[in-house]
Amino acid sequence: MISTLDLGFRDLPRAAGAFLLKCTQGHVLIECGPAACWKNLVDELHRHDSSPEQIKHLFVTHIHLDHAGASGLLAEHGARVHVHPRGARHLIDPTKLNASARRVFGPSLDTELGVLTACPEELVFPIENRESITIGNVQFTALETTGHASHHHCWLIKHPDGNHLFSGDAAGMRLPGTRFPTLPMVPPEFDLKQWMRAIQTIRETDADTLWMTHFDRLTDYTSFLDSVEQSLLDETRLISTFAERPLLDSVQTYRTWHEQRAVESDIDPALLTAYCNETHYQANITGVLRWLDRGGSLL
Ligand SMILES: [Zn+2]
Repeated sequence: MISTLDLGFRDLPRAAGAFLLKCTQGHVLIECGPAACWKNLVDELHRHDSSPEQIKHLFVTHIHLDHAGASGLLAEHGARVHVHPRGARHLIDPTKLNASARRVFGPSLDTELGVLTACPEELVFPIENRESITIGNVQFTALETTGHASHHHCWLIKHPDGNHLFSGDAAGMRLPGTRFPTLPMVPPEFDLKQWMRAIQTIRETDADTLWMTHFDRLTDYTSFLDSVEQSLLDETRLISTFAERPLLDSVQTYRTWHEQRAVESDIDPALLTAYCNETHYQANITGVLRWLDRGGSLL
């Protein structure tokens, strides 16, 4: 059985999760959330009859701080951390990662995300694309799924009760309780073509259940992936028109466009406002314009 742990990220319910799996050879976490949510993570583990000491393995989809920020704290308690090879060195020495997060978030980094503490090198396991690890009766396979980040794995889990795909950010995010996708098209590595390929990789797994870090599980997810693809195409096209405009003006246009789209999908605008703040729109504009500057082209 897989349990979703709600980390209370940004003091919001169902904004970011971690997933607990009790294998015959110890407890496993997929994703661990940011260091700033460590207390919530520990509380959620206790609520599910687990604890940091019982987590023997941690699988992270990528090293962004809302997914892997607490990995050093879990490693302190003995967890082995499985990660994309291009992310591994940043878990061992997070100086650069923390510094770039500090540049983006300033003083609010400590309350919003917290900083990553280093994982001991002997506990960090770089896992290649399509490589599998078996823990007890469960097989974990890494699927390279870049586009949101250049070091992103989805984890495909073959479990006696079915096949599960943990998508990290590769299937986008959704407003909680809805099928309305929101997309983290963040700098510096956003790449539309790679992201579309990642969605195709997810489709090809034919997994029974899609588990999204932001947030929770979806069965019958094909139409959701369709809408993620459509949003990627529409939002990149819109943002491409912002190249010469001041950022604040672009944020306002983008937000109004997004609200309209939400209304057309019968989404409460207040829900959109709660989960997509100014930072979300600014990051997407910066991420997409930077990718276009590097020679990216719309599809
Ligand atoms: Zn991310």
